[in-house]
Amino acid sequence: MALTVFERLGRDYCTSKEHLTRWRDALNEGRRTTPRCTAITRMGSQCRMLPLRDGRPGVHLCWHHARGAARDEIDRKREARAIRWSVSGNARKREQGITALAVIHRRRAWKALKADPSAAVQILLLSDADERNVTYWLRDHGLDGALTETGRPITNYSRERARYAAVMSISERITAEAARRRVVSIVQWEVAYWHKVGGA
Ligand SMILES: [Zn+2]
Repeated sequence: MALTVFERLGRDYCTSKEHLTRWRDALNEGRRTTPRCTAITRMGSQCRMLPLRDGRPGVHLCWHHARGAARDEIDRKREARAIRWSVSGNARKREQGITALAVIHRRRAWKALKADPSAAVQILLLSDADERNVTYWLRDHGLDGALTETGRPITNYSRERARYAAVMSISERITAEAARRRVVSIVQWEVAYWHKVGGA
């Protein structure tokens, strides 16, 4: 009779019960001592996702929770390795390197645009058909033309955020409620921005 994969594994590798116990203990020890993201989630519990490498010693934050200056520092350290890996002879490393470069540079582009919200640039490049759908979405959500709250058109920074929200919403990657929250956040940002620069 053919053995199941577990029976075969048992026969070949688990020579004794002691072996199995040691193996399980090592696994548990690894789980216990692997650093986990220490950020507290909105639900009030510890995040516990795997942290990004290159954080400061003793600081463990995942890709979602590493933000602001902490993330800038991590990205600076990651970038050199990402460039090296992006041309590596190892296909897996090459993919990881190229992906990391794209993430690091996209984040820098967003940050720079936020610092100069009127810069005439687009981060998100869309086909003409997608751009048309996005334009309708912006109009449906009151983000084209002047905002009632500020009396001005939204800045390019907010427009990029809105275009991004539109793509996510149209492709149903976020719910209508999540899209509405993003629109509210964009409008609040605009009000605060124009208040700060003294234009509203
Ligand atoms: Zn986290």
